Amino acid sequence: MMDRAVHREIAGVAIPDLPGQMVIGGREVDAADGDRIETVDPATGRVFADVPSATLADVDAAVEEARKALRGPWRATLPAERGRILNRVAQLIRRDAERLAVIETLDSGKPLAESRGDVSTAAGYFEYYAGIADKLQGDGIPLGTDYMSFTLHEPVGVTAHIIPWNFPLVTTARGVAPALAAGNTAVVKPASQTPLTALALAGLLAEAGLPAGVYNAVTGRGGVIGDALCGHPGVDHVTFTGSVPTGINVMKVAADRVTSVTLELGGKSPVVVLADADLDAAVEGTLKAIYMNAGQVCSAGSRLVIDRKVHAAMLERLVARARQLSVGHGLGDPKLGPLVSDSHRRTVAAYVDGARARGIAVATGGGPVEVAGFEGGYFYAPTILDAVDARDPVVQEEIFGPVLAVQVVDSAEEAVDVANGTPFGLCAGIYTRDISRAMRFARDVDAGQVFINQYFAGGIQTPFGGTKLSGFGREKGLAALAAYYQVKCITARI
Ligand code: NAP
Repeated sequence: MMDRAVHREIAGVAIPDLPGQMVIGGREVDAADGDRIETVDPATGRVFADVPSATLADVDAAVEEARKALRGPWRATLPAERGRILNRVAQLIRRDAERLAVIETLDSGKPLAESRGDVSTAAGYFEYYAGIADKLQGDGIPLGTDYMSFTLHEPVGVTAHIIPWNFPLVTTARGVAPALAAGNTAVVKPASQTPLTALALAGLLAEAGLPAGVYNAVTGRGGVIGDALCGHPGVDHVTFTGSVPTGINVMKVAADRVTSVTLELGGKSPVVVLADADLDAAVEGTLKAIYMNAGQVCSAGSRLVIDRKVHAAMLERLVARARQLSVGHGLGDPKLGPLVSDSHRRTVAAYVDGARARGIAVATGGGPVEVAGFEGGYFYAPTILDAVDARDPVVQEEIFGPVLAVQVVDSAEEAVDVANGTPFGLCAGIYTRDISRAMRFARDVDAGQVFINQYFAGGIQTPFGGTKLSGFGREKGLAALAAYYQVKCITARI
């Protein structure tokens, strides 16, 4: 049963009004059959809101509205005006930053400081891509004096965006901002566990002057409406961020209609620390790499690949720092919030319990945490598993929790092999004072992003995406735009 009253204030933070309807064609609507799904505060385990559970008819309606807007008002909007609208969106996100951050923390569990950072980044995506809206120009092609030949960068059409629960608003902005800048329209399906900020964003987009139907948000079960959206004849591109199995399914469904896809899937990214590294920077970088959002980050540095010569010193410092990290309700702004759900916490715990049973040393953490006042929350301790074999499941599989697997190596060359020794290839970090070694690592590692001496270095401007099971296509930066326009070549004999 819904119990909004319990959550009027938490940790001294007032709970704002919450969005509760989908947005289709500029109208706030319920599901066609009136069905709803509940969303839980992961720090209390209690339902605090509900949203419509869309039907297939709702998906059809959203895609139809997106198509109408594509051919109608959005096409008629000058590119420079598109840019102005997106800039206003950024301003409105910043105006409502605190409300959005509180909603994001309630929905996902992440610490308030992280949600504030996410909101700021979401605004940044709209600003960044606003600037490109009137600069997506083609080329003139020299065929000689008897021809005029040139290319246009046209929108691909209706874009579907399937969003995971770990970065709900940021992932929505990351896909929608470049899509709209390039003249496309969008249908967004947020994760069922975190649907609220995608709905809240709709109000801000409308206030900024975005024509009705350009951004539509449908909430509901991925297994019911996700397939329908990816295989919909009215959808021209799918941007999916989520797990590998779902991504494979999305690709198969989209293939039936030869719809293009961008897949941002999981990772098992290494943080390599060589013997000459600045250990202070490496310790702090590794902590952030694995414990941000309680490790529920696709690009998390979830493996520490460390030179044996500094293994003991680094581990001692890491363990001491990990034990200092506060765990609590996200609105109290601890270092770690809860995991997103009870079932996800059980999955994380099963990985760690399995490792322990196989004789792997648990250097710190290794179990759930009770937080006073929030006994129903899904908290898990910052955990470090030491000296893990390369074939072990905690090295090979994405745990998606606050669990660092340490792998010990004897040389920079071995570090590259170990770094590349999983089916994933999303990110890789290295700490060393030897720039040539760092660059050789960057050259040889299988990853879409490489961070040297600062894990997570970069931002909105730096292209992001994976190799191998981590997916394909790039988001962020100018590279993201390639998914959102098609090149038309026009050639005339004159
Ligand atoms: P997930 O289960 O794959 O869900 C992702 C999204 O797909 C949700 O909106 C989900 O909806 C939807 N979905 C479920 N079944 C679907 C189907 N048959 N067709 C289409 N959509 C469907 O992943 P998750 O558990 O939310 O997220 C965790 C995973 O995402 C991790 O593996 C992580 O590495 C990855 N991730 C990657 C990135 C990246 O940028 N590379 C970023 C964040 C997360 P429901 O919620 O309604 O089920």
